[in-house]
Amino acid sequence: MVNWILKKIFGSKNQRELRRMAPMVCRINEFYDQFKALPDDDLRAKTSVWKEELSKISDPEEQWHRLDQVLPEAFAVVKNAARRLKDRHHAFTVCDQPMTWDMVHFDVQLLGGMVLHRGRIAEMATGEGKTLVATLPLYLNALTGRGAHLVTVNDYLARRDAEWMGQLYTFLGLTVGCIQHDQEPDMRRQQYACDITYGTNSEFGFDYLRDNGMATTREQQVQRGYHYAIVDEVDSILIDEARTPLIISGPSTISTHQYDKWKPLIEQLVRKQTMLCNRVASEAVEAFEKSDVELGGRLVFKVKLGQPRNKQLLRMMEDPDKRRAIDKAELSFYQDTRKEELFQLKEELFFTIDEKSNEADLSEQGRTFLNPDDPNAFVLPDLISEFTEIDLDPSLSDEEKDKKKSERQQHCDAQAERIHNISQLLRAYCLFEKDVQYVVEDNKVVIVDEFTGRKMPGRRWSDGLHQAVEAKEGVQIDRETQTLATITIQNYFRLYQKLAGMTGTAETEAAEFHDIYKLDVNVIPTNRPVQRMDHNDRIYKTRREKYNAVIAEIKDHHAKQQPVLVGTVSVEASELLSRMLKREKIPHNVLNAKFHMQEAEIVARAGQPGTVTISTNMAGRGTDIKLGFGVPELGGLFVLGTERHEARRIDRQLRGRCARQGDPGASRFYVSFEDDLMRNFGAADRMTKIMERFGLEEGQELEHRWLNKSVETAQKRVEQRNYLIRKRTLDFDDVMNMQREVVYTYRNEVIDSEDPRTLIYEVIDEAVPAKVTEFLEIDEPNYTGLIHWVNTTFPLGLTQEKAQFDTRSVNENAQFLIGKVKEAYERKSGHEEPTAVKSLERYIILNAIDRLWQEHLYAMDALREGVYLRGYAQKDPLIEYKTEAYDMFVELMANIKNEVLHNLFRSTSNLQAFENFLATLPQFFLKEDAPTAPTANALARMRQPQPAMAGVAMDGDGAGEMPVDLPVRRSLPKVGRNEPCPCGSGKKYKNCCGRTA
Ligand code: ADP
Repeated sequence: MVNWILKKIFGSKNQRELRRMAPMVCRINEFYDQFKALPDDDLRAKTSVWKEELSKISDPEEQWHRLDQVLPEAFAVVKNAARRLKDRHHAFTVCDQPMTWDMVHFDVQLLGGMVLHRGRIAEMATGEGKTLVATLPLYLNALTGRGAHLVTVNDYLARRDAEWMGQLYTFLGLTVGCIQHDQEPDMRRQQYACDITYGTNSEFGFDYLRDNGMATTREQQVQRGYHYAIVDEVDSILIDEARTPLIISGPSTISTHQYDKWKPLIEQLVRKQTMLCNRVASEAVEAFEKSDVELGGRLVFKVKLGQPRNKQLLRMMEDPDKRRAIDKAELSFYQDTRKEELFQLKEELFFTIDEKSNEADLSEQGRTFLNPDDPNAFVLPDLISEFTEIDLDPSLSDEEKDKKKSERQQHCDAQAERIHNISQLLRAYCLFEKDVQYVVEDNKVVIVDEFTGRKMPGRRWSDGLHQAVEAKEGVQIDRETQTLATITIQNYFRLYQKLAGMTGTAETEAAEFHDIYKLDVNVIPTNRPVQRMDHNDRIYKTRREKYNAVIAEIKDHHAKQQPVLVGTVSVEASELLSRMLKREKIPHNVLNAKFHMQEAEIVARAGQPGTVTISTNMAGRGTDIKLGFGVPELGGLFVLGTERHEARRIDRQLRGRCARQGDPGASRFYVSFEDDLMRNFGAADRMTKIMERFGLEEGQELEHRWLNKSVETAQKRVEQRNYLIRKRTLDFDDVMNMQREVVYTYRNEVIDSEDPRTLIYEVIDEAVPAKVTEFLEIDEPNYTGLIHWVNTTFPLGLTQEKAQFDTRSVNENAQFLIGKVKEAYERKSGHEEPTAVKSLERYIILNAIDRLWQEHLYAMDALREGVYLRGYAQKDPLIEYKTEAYDMFVELMANIKNEVLHNLFRSTSNLQAFENFLATLPQFFLKEDAPTAPTANALARMRQPQPAMAGVAMDGDGAGEMPVDLPVRRSLPKVGRNEPCPCGSGKKYKNCCGRTA
């Protein structure tokens, strides 16, 4: 075997790398032979010896190094265990199915294991046994005792693989766990405590968010670090899933949507547009009949702008002449010199829709229709000019100017909200199709992953789009939710010290893996030479012709009992094909990734004689299709793709489902000019020419390997675009990620701290001087302001005479105050129960972090939306976002500290202690402007039952009756964060008194 590998290996970088690994395979096999004679116990003992040794190495780098040395022996031990289980016909159950162990690692699998151990991606074709490959590096890396994770695409596979491969691990004395969706925290903790843990990416990710963003004690956390992970189907998880971040959310406090209100009007508008487009399309047909190709092209282009999925339009696109005229018109309109004309053309419609960029824009006509009295209600005002005008108006006082500006700002916000709502509704109506992008179930809109056909319950489109689709479908519109915690899959996996992945198809996306995850791809040769025949694509003019040909081909194979696996790109297409097959009375199974376990079984049977299985890309993935009796003689499994996917990778996945382990098999793709890929990204011009040259008749097909190339060029174009979109998402999320890391690290420090008082004092040490500087380090030191702040935050009862601020330097004043605050705090906590006081202190900080962090997430969401609007002003949204996000974060950290100060004396572990403390207060207070002692009334109010840890934040209104006066901001009417601060400082409210609000 090794010889065969060696023979295949020369030349490319990949091959050189593999060649360098080949001698290691020999070494593993030598050890394997040596260990054969060992009794079970001695083989097993190696695990504990290594574990013991590695546990003594504290430096992770050194640990990795030692693992490299242990590798050949450790892999040999695992292979030996597999051999023993096989020889003994070891029987067990997996997901309640009886099984017998029948595998011993092949040499190529050893190679794959090495690649995974090195933190790379191993590309191994389907059926090469990746599940078994993972056992090698998982065993090796678990020896560190720091936990090794295997990430699967669904819960079923996690359980199946944990139970299946668990046979090996337990034989060798390691523990294995498995995370499942419905597990309680205790159970999860146990699973994570195991040496090896299987689970899905979302479970791992959500556990991370709960542990770091929500748990308030170590005991509540379930995970124990991010050491080593292997991601199965790594392309599917890191690339396909990466587009929707994991979000934990709660209902938002404010809801502003107006979807219900606008829905009827938008429905009418869409109907009007449809009528208009149909009319224009008919005119186009007429123009073409009169041989006025230019006019025809222009008209059809207009239809395309207004209704990209118009039926007549699609039909005209089939005709080579018309198609060329349309392409020509389109091309010429996008020239710079015709900008005006393009604008005119758009204005003749009610709105325009761009399929590629997913955007919708109202025209003047559309705006007038929606609001005949005030079409400007849908135009963003030019705020900058308005502000300048206000500033230049000599008749206005500064106050009036501010007031006017704030009015204009509010007006603009309302306008933006309205435009946003309408544009989301237009997108919902014109670009989102039921049963393609989403399904409606139990009165809910459930997203369907376009790539995989998999439903994604619980996930929602962001930015109000989900509500817009809910409005369109007339289902309950869920409240907007507020993000409590969020992370992208990418950033979750970047937490791991070492990350590896395996898949059948990574090569085409190798650049992305390298750039974003620093993961290199190694392609592992197959165990046996591949026997698959990949036929050329068959290309048709229309979908209808294509499907007819597909059915004919299925019938052919079915007639001779050869099994066929039919791949579709959407749930809708699966159902259409199924109906067509029913008409032909061909029995078949339809899978669309709804029930993983059942599906895995159906897919496993897809290689039996005479079976026809229709499946979306994702359905039953990770399940191996074994050929039934007599099937190899019929040519093996025939894979038929009904459409080329946007990404070549997904097509390769489909192809790879046949011809495993040297089996025979064949594949063919069917394409039509009406497919989305061809319509949007096809080399339309060239295709049109080819069609003309061949003078295609109805039902006739094109087939040539050059055509495969054209299709692939289109695919590459989309891949590139999608990569850029993902990269962009990530660029934005990176900003968030750094902030999240800082906040989560701080949070964990608080949770872990044995002596939280030091953290509290750190806050005092930092926040008090900052405030003092704010009040005093200005042209005219604001002593009254400072005193007021002190007395509203701490029960110090300071007076001007007592404080004597003007006799000291700013720094001395800060030190003076710090001393006072700490002294008072010592006194307060002296009255508390010593055991409770620590949790109380932790709680004060955590509470501040959580509340403000969530607010911050909300603001960041808004910022992200906002910067895109600025994109129009020729500014790079990303740079804008980064700068503002940084400022907001600095503000957040300051706010957290101020909030801690604010709550320091307003929280107690026990009311008696608090009362005792309050009783000692009057001695601090000195006459005049000092707040008065608490009244019976205030105490009575505080005695009301409070959640033990919720603290006694003394909110009230009558300033006089509180022992600690309420900050100014509470006694004033509610002020918007961006409005000028009512204290008259001239700053925005959020940057002034509103800081801790
Ligand atoms: P992949 O995920 O690479 O497509 P699987 O892990 O599902 O492949 O394994 C495919 C099939 O090959 C399984 O049925 C498994 O039992 C079998 N298999 C894997 N490795 C071996 C081996 N070393 N010897 C025998 N059978 C194996």
